[in-house]
Amino acid sequence: MDHVLSVRNLSKSFGQIRAVRDVSFDVAPGEILGLIGPNGSGKSTLFNSILGQLRPDHGEIHVNGRQVNRMRACDLARLGVGRTFQMLQVFPKMTVLDNIIIAGQEHQGTMLSRLFGRPDAGLTEEADKLIAFFRLGHLRDELAGSLSYGQQKLLDAAMAFMAGPSLVLLDEPAGGVNLSMLENLRERLLAFNSERGTTFVVIEHNMEFVMSLCTRIIVLAEGAIIAEGSPDEIRENPDVISAYLGG
Ligand code: ADP
Ligand code: MG
Repeated sequence: MDHVLSVRNLSKSFGQIRAVRDVSFDVAPGEILGLIGPNGSGKSTLFNSILGQLRPDHGEIHVNGRQVNRMRACDLARLGVGRTFQMLQVFPKMTVLDNIIIAGQEHQGTMLSRLFGRPDAGLTEEADKLIAFFRLGHLRDELAGSLSYGQQKLLDAAMAFMAGPSLVLLDEPAGGVNLSMLENLRERLLAFNSERGTTFVVIEHNMEFVMSLCTRIIVLAEGAIIAEGSPDEIRENPDVISAYLGG
């Protein structure tokens, strides 16, 4: 089994709403997979079911060949899975540096650093590397809440990388982000992908962003996969066009 992520027959309902319906897909090492679909098509529910935030009704999930159903989010992090949420998860009253350190402590803090509530030097060093990588150095000691929305989104994305993940799932990382920040984010994700072989699954509404970032795209509509292919194939797929036009 050489897939980084493998999802089989995943379903999740909320009462009468069948948010995710029998979804199956695989993600190969080093892939950048886009997950698109109209609002309410089940993208976030799919992520949250994969990542232990929601309990799926049916289905199997494997990460690097290991079954992870019912695994908690923190255990998934230890298996090398990072994620961002659709809503910002930064702590506004903490500095950029402390936000990144906290993200690292959550995932890989040593027993000692937890006991004494103080980050070890290694964690600070790693956080600084990540801050530099995401070009947030000039904001290192600013409160996260004082950053622009786009900068906070970038910080939020950076936090998912603190544990050195091999797979990162991003839920609308570009939402509400201006063009230059968007280009920065796209370029940083591509750098992670090419330099460290990090695999990505990205939910995003910004088509230009998805098309220029992803190697393959899966389209959800009403909880089910309706199309899968290269950006060019997806762009021209009539089912996709009609799903977006509500046809
Ligand atoms: P997307 O991320 O594609 O916009 P979601 O996964 O957020 O879609 O939502 C899919 C469907 O599930 C929607 O109809 C939404 O209203 C419903 N839904 C999502 N989360 C919940 C929840 N916690 N409780 C009830 N319904 C939900
Ligand atoms: Mg969503």
